[in-house]
Amino acid sequence: MRRGAAGGARRSRRGSAAAGGTRRARGRNAGGAPAGAKAGSPGPGAIDLGAQSGRWAAFQERHRLSCEEAARLLLDAYEYRGLVKHTGGCHCGAVRFEVWASADLHVFNCNCSICTKKQNRHFIVPASRFKLLKGADNLTTYTFNTHRAQHTFCKTCGVQSFYTPRSNPDGYGIAPHCLDDGTVQTIITEDINGKEWEKAVREHKTIRDMSKP
Ligand SMILES: [Zn+2]
Repeated sequence: MRRGAAGGARRSRRGSAAAGGTRRARGRNAGGAPAGAKAGSPGPGAIDLGAQSGRWAAFQERHRLSCEEAARLLLDAYEYRGLVKHTGGCHCGAVRFEVWASADLHVFNCNCSICTKKQNRHFIVPASRFKLLKGADNLTTYTFNTHRAQHTFCKTCGVQSFYTPRSNPDGYGIAPHCLDDGTVQTIITEDINGKEWEKAVREHKTIRDMSKP
């Protein structure tokens, strides 16, 4: 395979990492302890934040986040550091997803039989970084040959905004052209020789790792 630069700035997943930042915080008791729990003795299922309790409460207050929203914000920031949240979907809007990936996308342009027909291009992410927001019941799946790749597409508009590639059955292939504007900075496109798929994937240095968490 050969590399071809396809520069061009474009877009990404929801602009801000702040989840529901405009919503009012709910249940603002320090340390995330359930209402009625005694300070310093968290109830069942609660987390004892120890010396961080005050800081946690102040953080929620300052950003107007519920305990769950604050936890998600911080976990996302840590686990997906260096990544941005892109959102996207099909044409009719029935299928919507979010995906954490770099703002600088590494996109594969494949010339296998189906990618040629669909003019498919995709970047690969671990399954854990992809979340289907809506449209699970509006997806249908086409398979052929080894039936390992799951070519999911919208039943209504026919657009394949993401799928499960044969090269990375533990991840997803995302169509960069189905992302919303605003989060992609650059796109590097790498041609992959899908006409000799087994050889191309076997010899590729990094493609298998792209879906590892
Ligand atoms: Zn659709």
